[in-house]
Amino acid sequence: MAIDLRSDTVTQPSAGMRDAIAHALVGDDVYGDDPTVNSLEERLAKMFGKEAGLFSPTGSLANQLAIRLLVAPGEELIAETNSHIVRAELGAAAAFSGVTTRTWPAKRGLLKASDALEIARPDSGPYLVSTTAIAVENTHNFGGGTVQPLLEMQELRKGADEMGLSLHLDAARIWNAHIASGVSFFDYGKYFDTISVCLSKGLGAPVGSLMLSTKERVAKARVWRKRYGAGMRQVGLLAAAGHYALDHNIARLADDHRRAKELATTIAAIDSSLIDVSGVETNIVGLDLTSLPFSASELSVRCRENGLWISALGPKYARLVTHMDFDDSQLLQAKEILKKALVA
Ligand SMILES: *Cc1c(COP(=O)(O)O)cnc(C)c1O
Repeated sequence: MAIDLRSDTVTQPSAGMRDAIAHALVGDDVYGDDPTVNSLEERLAKMFGKEAGLFSPTGSLANQLAIRLLVAPGEELIAETNSHIVRAELGAAAAFSGVTTRTWPAKRGLLKASDALEIARPDSGPYLVSTTAIAVENTHNFGGGTVQPLLEMQELRKGADEMGLSLHLDAARIWNAHIASGVSFFDYGKYFDTISVCLSKGLGAPVGSLMLSTKERVAKARVWRKRYGAGMRQVGLLAAAGHYALDHNIARLADDHRRAKELATTIAAIDSSLIDVSGVETNIVGLDLTSLPFSASELSVRCRENGLWISALGPKYARLVTHMDFDDSQLLQAKEILKKALVA
């Protein structure tokens, strides 16, 4: 069996999760009648200190519903250059909502409030695009699973309030940030007007994300979700997997983080230019192959031939992501495969 470290989305629902799915109480969620969806929406809203939540099939849609509500057509959202919203949602903000984006680059995706505030231009008048919202990603996926500093988010909120800007949090992997930093979900949530969370990354649910915000925004998002074709019926089957994931799979993320760190340590011992071990804070291990004579896709082929699947996300950038279906014996095997594959 291949060891698949392309992403933390590749996990199989566990026996316990399948059991929870099988026994879920359900109703027609388009009528608001699914008790398992309703309780999941309430549960997550409460965890993050928001009034309400909306179940969505994907994190991209949860992000896009939030953007739709915060930014009017013809206005702009600003975000870090390598954020998921900018690079991995296929231009959805433009295609769905007529929203343009402008970006600031940050090393490892780490937020500095001043970087964002310096390029923000609210109320730009009749010539320039007006900024209406800023998006932050925590943890930062393409930044290598980095955890955003709370202080910078506080500063960003202060600056945004002074400029009359809204803040969105792409919290797809906020579970990992919480485990790495010890900061509560409530504290992460309180600086943002809208939040999207994913249950199908490290938490191991097959499907499911939620958009969290005020009652009023969530009511509007419900209409837009249906308009986009994502009003679902007995979707409590999926919400039950989400409840199970929240009950059982948050604390265990510490194991994923430990294994990611061990992979990074092994890789750094082969060639210290490939990775800074201290930068591996969560479950994502990003490799900079600049000093090696082969590309990331060549490395991924070398690994795959030996039974290890990894991602090539740039010409010289490879990514490994640990997850709940990757255990200590697979960790030993993965280290051996990497030792062979990384020899130039
Ligand atoms: C995975 C991910 C999403 C959502 O992705 P979907 O595949 O649409 O569920 C959003 N933001 C980040 C940072 C992600 O890693």
